[in-house]
Amino acid sequence: MMRYKELEPRFVTTVPRQLEPGVLYVSMEYGTVVHSCCCGCGEKVVTPLTPTDWSITFNGESVSLWPSIGSWNLPCQSHYVIKGNRVLESGRWNRQMIDAEISRDNEAKAKYYKRTVSNETEPSLAHPIDIETGSQTYARQSFWKTILSRLLR
Ligand SMILES: [Zn+2]
Repeated sequence: MMRYKELEPRFVTTVPRQLEPGVLYVSMEYGTVVHSCCCGCGEKVVTPLTPTDWSITFNGESVSLWPSIGSWNLPCQSHYVIKGNRVLESGRWNRQMIDAEISRDNEAKAKYYKRTVSNETEPSLAHPIDIETGSQTYARQSFWKTILSRLLR
């Protein structure tokens, strides 16, 4: 059972060490959302905003977070969705769901970071090609040099 059925979004720069229950702290500076677990256990739930973690929607009044928040690593095993400030309880996690989520998360991260890494390494990928062209030019030069030296002989 959720003790907090609704959260009050609070846009902050830094998240206070002592979390007020029922408050959804949103820090755009740090790209993270933090709240005290909605079941009332008092555990700090951190949901980083990244392309592979959570996304936030703010319509000027209420905040939604996607995907769901599954605290399978907390004793309470809470699982809920925050939609329009409201806390919608989701089914309890079972081992299968946790495994599926972990592999989905790993896969998404691997895919995303691979893409980022390959984008970053694209300029340096030009090097082997340059070297190749260089050696081809060199090879051609030495070919003509050889011909030339043969003609001159
Ligand atoms: Zn909890």
